[in-house]
Amino acid sequence: MGGPILLMARESWGPVTLTLHNVLPQPHFVAGVDNDADFAAELAATTVPFTMLQEEDVFVLGHTDEIAAATDSIEEMITTLGDLWRVEQDFSGQSGWSTPHMFFFDLRVEGGGAHSGNPAYLSHTWELSTTNPFWQTSFLGKWGFLHEAGHSFSNPGTLLYLDKYAYISWREGEPNLLNMVAVDTVFGAGSHQQWSGRSDAERQATREAFVCNCLASGGCDATDFGTADVVDFAMSIADDPAIGWDGLSAAYHAFVEPGTDQQAHIDAVAETLSAQLDRDFGPYMTAYQLPVTPSVLATLDATYPTDWEANPLEGLVCP
Ligand SMILES: [Zn+2]
Repeated sequence: MGGPILLMARESWGPVTLTLHNVLPQPHFVAGVDNDADFAAELAATTVPFTMLQEEDVFVLGHTDEIAAATDSIEEMITTLGDLWRVEQDFSGQSGWSTPHMFFFDLRVEGGGAHSGNPAYLSHTWELSTTNPFWQTSFLGKWGFLHEAGHSFSNPGTLLYLDKYAYISWREGEPNLLNMVAVDTVFGAGSHQQWSGRSDAERQATREAFVCNCLASGGCDATDFGTADVVDFAMSIADDPAIGWDGLSAAYHAFVEPGTDQQAHIDAVAETLSAQLDRDFGPYMTAYQLPVTPSVLATLDATYPTDWEANPLEGLVCP
């Protein structure tokens, strides 16, 4: 057994002296510097159980045997993770944590546990349901990677980050939305549908069941949303071909958190979406059980004479 010793220390703490014995060189691949063939030989020769992969924005520690067994290019794997990471960053308009962002895969985290942070600890429980390149299903688990990366771009002040404590499903849902954006952008439009529960048909069924249950019980509010509802609320907007991920991203970039309370945040979401996309989003938010303050609804209605035409809840008839 053995592994790297990673030290994170402040310069102000003063000099640190370490003396290590019996140290072995750690396999360490740097995109744009190392090449696959030489690295494969290095992996074949090492007995060190953990291997580092690095590119501009992402730094990954994984099991050497898993990485050595990968049939895809290491250069391509680590660069793709960086590309996915950068999509989330660009879409959200958030800078995220300092880079290279570090991800430590499946070292001590078991049973689906995962945690964001710097370094981030990830397991690879969550996978794409149907695609099967080796590195997606056996090695990296993009769901964990992209969810945890999403946390660095989802903070108080972002569009759907309603509150750290009262609305945990929003805090956890927004990173999943960023995940959807990233896979669609990097792997092609509609790639998100490969995840269980994320196909258009499944989302529609979930959406309608949620709203109909709410209506049957006298109405819901933001606290009733599950993570799937949070993701679908935003994805449904991007589903409109006139809006797309770019249109939703524009709303992210334009959003200014009011800094007062949750209702003000929800009102600001309605105002930002409407202003950015030049349509009244009040009826959509009302239909999706996200109550907007009546005076704000009235202002939006007067300002934008056209409602959002693609509202997927328009004309919903509950059983
Ligand atoms: Zn999370």
